[in-house]
Amino acid sequence: MAAELLDGATIARQIYSQLRLRVSALEKLGVQPGLAAVLLGDDPASKIYVRNKVKACTETGLYSEVHAFGGDCAETALLATIDKINRNPRIHGMLVQLPLPPRLDSERIMQTIAVDKDVDGFGWHNLGALLAGHPLFVPCTPLGVMAMLDHAGIAVEGRNAVVVGRSVSVGKPLALLLMARGATVTVCHSKTQDLARHTAHADILVAAVGRPALITADMVRPGAVVVDVGINRLPDGKLVGDVDFAGVYEKASYLTPVPGGVGRMTVAMLIANTITAAERQVARR
Ligand code: NAD
Repeated sequence: MAAELLDGATIARQIYSQLRLRVSALEKLGVQPGLAAVLLGDDPASKIYVRNKVKACTETGLYSEVHAFGGDCAETALLATIDKINRNPRIHGMLVQLPLPPRLDSERIMQTIAVDKDVDGFGWHNLGALLAGHPLFVPCTPLGVMAMLDHAGIAVEGRNAVVVGRSVSVGKPLALLLMARGATVTVCHSKTQDLARHTAHADILVAAVGRPALITADMVRPGAVVVDVGINRLPDGKLVGDVDFAGVYEKASYLTPVPGGVGRMTVAMLIANTITAAERQVARR
């Protein structure tokens, strides 16, 4: 039987309509949530991501601004901009679009974003809060995956979840979220031996690696829920995920497409986190 597609665009649209209600409530208090994006260099994918985030802001009623720098921008200039945004009351959430040029210390730069504006949730404070079970801002992609599962009414508690990929932005926080919801979680990565042995036990299988067709149908348990986080551009320009879509489609119960799956949810969660940031800042007034 063919899988049911988890259509990120449709789910995100429903989430945006709820978010607009929260924006209206803030507007009545004289507050328009604001997001600042910092962009360095000419990476075409980063430019598209920032453009999509700004578009989502506009469509949901948020204020947004982009601080764009050339790839050769001095670290001091970047840090000065982050500091200025940290202190700007018009801005409730900030992101620095990754990857930064390798000559810059991304890890250190991310720690200079104010904790209560760190809507990507990549700062150590926010990651630690998630680990401790008191999340403040959770990274948007893992949050989007959980929202997708919830939206489709997919039970998590008691199920075997296998997350392939252990990055700080996707794999690790997603494993924590799944664990917090009662799943038994296995995390696989580049050093994992016999990946298929692990994936075969997954009721919920998430691929977040960045390698086309890493997950093939023979690695998937019949009826599994398969979430494809990967985004890969093939030499012919086509965008694909980490899952061999055609094969897995015939075996899974649910499957996310690429494009049109998790990516849409990531942006929706960024907007949600920014609105949450504005609500928290209003509550502190
Ligand atoms: P990353 O490079 O930081 O991490 C990749 C992970 O994959 C690592 O933990 C590594 O150990 C693991 N890995 C590498 N080769 C492997 C293999 N053969 N078997 C098992 N594990 C292996 O990447 P990331 O930032 O986590 O992103 C992963 C993918 O998700 C990329 O394609 C990225 O473009 C995509 N992504 C999509 C969204 C979205 O919104 N849809 C958001 C973030 C990232």
